[in-house]
Amino acid sequence: MTSGVRHAEVVVDLAAIRANVATLAAAAAPAATMAVVKADGYGHGLVPAARAARAGGASWLGTAVLAEALALRAAGVDGRILAWLAAPGEDWGAAVTADVDVSAYADWQLEEIAAAARAVGQAARVHLKVDTGLGRGGVMPADWPTVVARARALEAEGSVAVVGVWTHFAYADAPGHPTIAAQLAVFDEALAIAAAAGLRPEVRHAANSAATLTLPAAHYDLVRPGLAVYGLSPVPEVAGPAELGLRPAMRLQARVALVKAAPAGHGVSYGHTYTTPVPTRLALVPLGYADGVPRHASGAGPVRVGGRTVPVAGRVCMDQVVLDVGDAAVTAGDLAVLFGDGSQGEPTAQDWAEAAGTISYEIVTRVSPRLPRRYLSEEP
Ligand SMILES: *Cc1c(COP(=O)(O)O)cnc(C)c1O
Repeated sequence: MTSGVRHAEVVVDLAAIRANVATLAAAAAPAATMAVVKADGYGHGLVPAARAARAGGASWLGTAVLAEALALRAAGVDGRILAWLAAPGEDWGAAVTADVDVSAYADWQLEEIAAAARAVGQAARVHLKVDTGLGRGGVMPADWPTVVARARALEAEGSVAVVGVWTHFAYADAPGHPTIAAQLAVFDEALAIAAAAGLRPEVRHAANSAATLTLPAAHYDLVRPGLAVYGLSPVPEVAGPAELGLRPAMRLQARVALVKAAPAGHGVSYGHTYTTPVPTRLALVPLGYADGVPRHASGAGPVRVGGRTVPVAGRVCMDQVVLDVGDAAVTAGDLAVLFGDGSQGEPTAQDWAEAAGTISYEIVTRVSPRLPRRYLSEEP
């Protein structure tokens, strides 16, 4: 297991991603599954995550920005891909040429997309997004009839094909929250307006990981899980990964760079926020906030080393952290595990999220590209 780890690495188990997607696809059926691979596959690697998700049964892939979708195409990933986030002046022609579905939530955006499609000579596949209550992207319900009418006209002209109508929840991670039913009602109304205007979308979609796992009423024709693809729980207060049939795919580990004895009363790391209470041993681990270890987890983030789990002693630095390992059997070169799937007693990304006052999404997506990724269980 230590082979090949020079100083620190991210290990990604692609078999876990395949199995997680199979679990999600089974939960969603008969709805289809779109595995969300934005943000470099939530830090796991865009292309390997996408291929593993396809192998697990994802007929769709979802990205935030178009550059991510085009990178998938450049790597030879085929099949349906939706990229949903754009700014004015987006290279819509590239999306159409690369056969990438795009999203629209404003009139001006539809006009830009249609102009590019006419130039390329091929209809753009568009998913119209409605803001049913998240208060982020999407057409406000008041403007929905106008945008729908314009989309229908552009469809009749042949420059766009409205293949999707979709929305996103504010509170899917709080099953039973009243906004969920309210958003579903607004979505159903928006779908009825689209249908009355003559739109016949192939897929209606709303569910992220939490809704895929806890809210069948939100599955419609397609679900869009992200976090759960990587084996993390989108509802950590309700259920852990194992209870949801998921397994975390990412492991972050490093070799201990130095172990040394320190007397009682020795200040540790910048600002001496930790002082050794008794004579002890300090271990230096070569991972810091530049690698994605949150500085907010100073004094708290758990690390498994020498058969025990200890919190980071003092501040997290840019490239390193210090552990007070006492009399644990730790020597330089041993592996220190910040997080993994928890099966060997190591902490999880969820534990780090709690130590840093954030969510597991942020822990895995911020693991730095400077760390090498090592992939386990690649498909032949
Ligand atoms: C990120 C994202 C998802 C996936 O959300 P998870 O909570 O990670 O499952 C789905 N839809 C949209 C629009 C997103 O931005």
